[in-house]
Amino acid sequence: MEEIIQKYGYIIYNRGVEYYKNKRVQQVLKFKNKLYGKVIGNFVYDVIVDLKSLESRCSCPYGHNCKHGVATILGYMNNEYVDVDKIVDGLKKVDKEKLFNFILEKIGRNPEFALNFVGLLDDVSELSYIYKQVKNKLLTYIAIMKSGTYIDKNTAKEIGNFLLENKNFLSK
Ligand SMILES: [Zn+2]
Repeated sequence: MEEIIQKYGYIIYNRGVEYYKNKRVQQVLKFKNKLYGKVIGNFVYDVIVDLKSLESRCSCPYGHNCKHGVATILGYMNNEYVDVDKIVDGLKKVDKEKLFNFILEKIGRNPEFALNFVGLLDDVSELSYIYKQVKNKLLTYIAIMKSGTYIDKNTAKEIGNFLLENKNFLSK
């Protein structure tokens, strides 16, 4: 508690407490040493908290060490969070075929999901079509960035996610 007040200041801390008490914390996920929160303000804001330093980043206009960060930490401290590490550990024990069928079902609902797995495949040459698609998307993003036009938060997020999702693929 003391540490949060020190880092965020009393005013923001109190606002965060109010947010937490008013059930504005929609979701908290813990993965490795970070918390990923969704907190309802004027919009639903995405918060990432570093559990070591308690510093937070947020998609709200304030952006850093805000009341949404405090509210996310409080959710975690009150055990209202999903432990993604545990889910990942559980996944390690899931039978390969079961996992495959699950992924297949996801792909059936949204074929684009299959693109996340391209990087796992040994022979990408057979997938030159997908490769071209990924490459084209990347070139589009590069063009946007080079043109110097303003990139809104969602586009920036989309580009970031794209790079992360395809990092194995892109390094081939
Ligand atoms: Zn915020």
